[in-house]
Amino acid sequence: MKKLFTALVVILISSLSLVFSEGQRLKEVVKILENITWLGHDCFKIKGEKLIYTDPFQIKKGDPADIILITHEHYDHCSPQDVKKIQKPSTVIVATPDCAKKLSGNIKTVNPGDKITVEGISIEAVPAYNTNKQFHTKGNNWVGYIFTVMGQRVYIAGDTDYIKEMEGLKTDIALLPVSGIYVMTADEAAKAALAIKPKLAIPMHYGAIAGSEKDAKRFKELLEGKVDVEILKQQ
Ligand SMILES: [Zn+2]
Repeated sequence: MKKLFTALVVILISSLSLVFSEGQRLKEVVKILENITWLGHDCFKIKGEKLIYTDPFQIKKGDPADIILITHEHYDHCSPQDVKKIQKPSTVIVATPDCAKKLSGNIKTVNPGDKITVEGISIEAVPAYNTNKQFHTKGNNWVGYIFTVMGQRVYIAGDTDYIKEMEGLKTDIALLPVSGIYVMTADEAAKAALAIKPKLAIPMHYGAIAGSEKDAKRFKELLEGKVDVEILKQQ
């Protein structure tokens, strides 16, 4: 009887802790997750205090953006024709100088390390570069961004490998490339996620130029029980 009671208590406690851990995600992340739409590749639409888009590319239908964040000038990230689909006169574009040259409107240029406030949203440009390939060299000064939405720090890594600068980042939600070839592989991205320790990681940079959903699933599998991962459906 005593054993049965002990077993029941153990089951109760473990199920409570399961509910608690899911509850934590609900409380801190789910609300913002509801407002994140993946439009493919590195393009996310994030609706918080402002409507923010990242790296607009191959957009079918867009809403007017308050802020557009662009990580670097490669055509699949800095796409003037896609920017036009979501740009209104007051839209602020934050971009690297080489991308800014291709665009017009209200543009703020950034280098790695810059911190700016746009429309009340704090935005940090952080380094993004390759370490075991040459597509995105450190000298290009291309970036990822950390920006705050509804009290959560969202990190979009840009086209990057796992770099040492990721280890000091404080972020709640990390959007990480997983395709390999031009950026981290799923395995490298999982190592990055373990170093960054976000509350939630979302794989990106697959299904368009390189990589497939297989890479996203591999990323999630590798982080099972370690970092919460959500694979978004492309809209
Ligand atoms: Zn690139």
